[in-house]
Amino acid sequence: EKARIIDGRAIAKEIKTELKAEVEKMLSEGKRRPKLTAVIVGHDPASQTYVKNKMIAAKYTGIESDTLSLPETTTQEEILQKIDELNKDPNVDGIIVQLPIPKHIEERTVCNAITPSKDVDGFHTTNVGRFCVDLTSMIPATPAGVMELLKRSGIETYGKNAVVCGRSKNVGMPIAMLLHSDGEGETQAGDATTTICHRYTPPEQLKVFVKTADILVVATGIPNLITGDMVKEGVAVIDVGINRVKDPQTGKYKLVGDVDFEGVSEKASWITPVPGGVGPMTVAMLMKNTVLAAKQDIAYALGRSKEYYGDNIMVG
Ligand code: ADP
Repeated sequence: EKARIIDGRAIAKEIKTELKAEVEKMLSEGKRRPKLTAVIVGHDPASQTYVKNKMIAAKYTGIESDTLSLPETTTQEEILQKIDELNKDPNVDGIIVQLPIPKHIEERTVCNAITPSKDVDGFHTTNVGRFCVDLTSMIPATPAGVMELLKRSGIETYGKNAVVCGRSKNVGMPIAMLLHSDGEGETQAGDATTTICHRYTPPEQLKVFVKTADILVVATGIPNLITGDMVKEGVAVIDVGINRVKDPQTGKYKLVGDVDFEGVSEKASWITPVPGGVGPMTVAMLMKNTVLAAKQDIAYALGRSKEYYGDNIMVG
């Protein structure tokens, strides 16, 4: 039997509609409209598209948004200065710096410049650290989106075998963290027995591990890494990859994931398409984090009181 398709666009829309109602409720209670500011450095076309999609989603959800476009030649000092201004701006709830940033700027320094309570990408080491010890934090949008797809499709993770291909700090690692951690902890994670495969997993070992998966998440950036013969009957497959490849037949470029969709669909119980799977979820979960930031619950969890800091909660 053919796999059921997990419609990421539909689920993302559902989440954004829920958030829209939440924002309306906040406004009716006299609260300020949540605001997200995106910083983009240079003119990478993919980054421009990603940020544009985030701004469209913000509009739909009722989140005020702003894009700060800085030239390629911007110095690290200048970016840190801008972030400092946004950190102090009481009208800004969420700040993201669209990655990648030009090579003359240190990514880590920039991520750590954003106040953790406004760090809606969850890349600040305070958020990463808290997340890894299972305390309340801003959870990165793509990993949160993966879990939400599983949850809303009714795919059980408790006690199951999960395999994650890819261990990047912003995608693979946090996905594995969410899958394996204790469901009773503050992140309410998945309680799955989780295996992480990466570039030094020998191909024959990759086959062995992938075969054990009840839930398979692939985030490697390698088209067709996972083929039908590699998976177990009934596996649920989440394909995080977004690869631009040339179609040999038409000569046109198209987006594909890391999974051979056709072949794997023959055996899987569930599968996400690319595009239209994880991609839209990343955007929706960023909106969710922005609303969360506006509510300031995370700031309280991080141990700072509104009384002390006023509306502009500064942490870290
Ligand atoms: P992303 O940001 O989507 O996670 P990256 O390019 O940062 O993508 O990371 C790619 C990840 O894929 C790395 O963690 C790398 O170890 C992993 N990877 C690369 N090749 C393989 C492979 N053959 N099998 C499993 N994982 C792989």
